Amino acid sequence: MALRKVRVMGDDVLRKKCKEVKEVNERTKVLIDDMFDTMYEENGVGLAAPQVGILKRIVVIDIGDEPLVFINPVILETSGEQTGDEGCLSLPGKSGTVTRPNYVKVRAFDEEMNEFELEGTELLARAICHECDHLDGILYVDKVEGELQTTQYDEYEDFEDEFMED
Ligand code: ZN
Repeated sequence: MALRKVRVMGDDVLRKKCKEVKEVNERTKVLIDDMFDTMYEENGVGLAAPQVGILKRIVVIDIGDEPLVFINPVILETSGEQTGDEGCLSLPGKSGTVTRPNYVKVRAFDEEMNEFELEGTELLARAICHECDHLDGILYVDKVEGELQTTQYDEYEDFEDEFMED
């Protein structure tokens, strides 16, 4: 198991367009394994390669059903709408309201470079849209409705709150 450093907003790598994957070699497989390890460690449901500093079109998602790998994903079809809270491992401790399609159909390649199509609704649809955006340098803050919320306090903020009460 190997963890990679998750890049946070402000890092230029998150704003670049990723390159298509031409072949899956050993290094690609190690990267994918590390992306899963990192995602699970950080309690995320999805992670895109640029979030660990690699400008390749690779996404991993696990919303609790099964681990999914998408190489060179293309969203073929969307329909409906869902509005809900979204977070991102590249913006720790924050969340915001984003409207996404409620259904997506995606075409991608697996680790053996076999093409497949997959349909997702609700959380899976949201995760696919969010992670595919990362491959084009788009972050959910670009689409957020209203202000970002703070979902947890760090130690400094806790201290500050206590101080303010006194
Ligand atoms: Zn994200």
